Amino acid sequence: MATLGNPTNTIEVLQKYHFNFQKKYGQNFLIDTHILEKIIKESGITEHDLVLEIGPGIGTMTQYLAENAREVVAVEIDKNLIPILNDTLSAYDNVTVLNEDILKVDIPKIAEERNQGKPIKVVANLPYYITTPIIMGLFESHVPLDSITIMVQKEVADRMQVGPGTKDYGALSLAVQYYAKPEIVANVPPGCFMPRPKVGSAVIKLSRYEKPPVSVKDESFLFALIRASFNQRRKTLVNGLANGSLNITKEQIIEALCIMNLSSTIRGEALTLDQFAELSNILYS
Ligand code: SAM
Repeated sequence: MATLGNPTNTIEVLQKYHFNFQKKYGQNFLIDTHILEKIIKESGITEHDLVLEIGPGIGTMTQYLAENAREVVAVEIDKNLIPILNDTLSAYDNVTVLNEDILKVDIPKIAEERNQGKPIKVVANLPYYITTPIIMGLFESHVPLDSITIMVQKEVADRMQVGPGTKDYGALSLAVQYYAKPEIVANVPPGCFMPRPKVGSAVIKLSRYEKPPVSVKDESFLFALIRASFNQRRKTLVNGLANGSLNITKEQIIEALCIMNLSSTIRGEALTLDQFAELSNILYS
């Protein structure tokens, strides 16, 4: 089987199996070897690593991962891709393909059984329709994680990386930055995929913190507070939070902001992660 990653070989495989792209699964296959090499390099995988790949497609990046990692577990939802993957990955004995929905897979169990509970690396060209649930699911399941190196929509990568005071800043930025250090490592134009997506893409590396950079009394209260603060973006924090489902009064929020030396007219988008943590600790009691 020829190495994939260039358009000619990809087309050949697709034709051999009469494969039809399924839009509902976000299928845009990589056909640029430079980008594939860049993802492998930036992910920092070594021959000691267990790598989880989400959505291997026809196995293009899987081949690169299998060459560089100890073991690869690739989870693909589309059953029509399984015979193709059996063919394109037949030369590798360190790859396991699971025909499942990644949102239903017990990833901590995979890490436990195949990596003795040690941190795994996730590398993927994600299906864009479920980017956020995949990332948040990985963090919130507390699976032992070293890093997540993923291709996402450019706009989503920006949202994960920015700080306060920008239009992209929001609940996703804060949630990601609570768990990991984000770094955009490549911008990827539509021409690097088949078929071409309508949007620009970017590769972002999320390096998991051993301990979150802020300490809070209750993690779920912090996230509820963050979500409520951005639900009504155009309102002040006081009005947005008092209208939400958190059972906090305007007076309590104004008092908390006063303790923090912040104006009572401030909006959620102006607060840093540190400030959200402090606010959540004051309000939690
Ligand atoms: N990794 C391949 C590549 O780079 O060429 C394919 C990437 S494509 C953007 C996304 C892949 O994720 C597709 O193969 C799609 O079928 C698969 N996929 C979509 N939803 C999924 C899900 N819920 N669980 C597992 N795989 C999924």
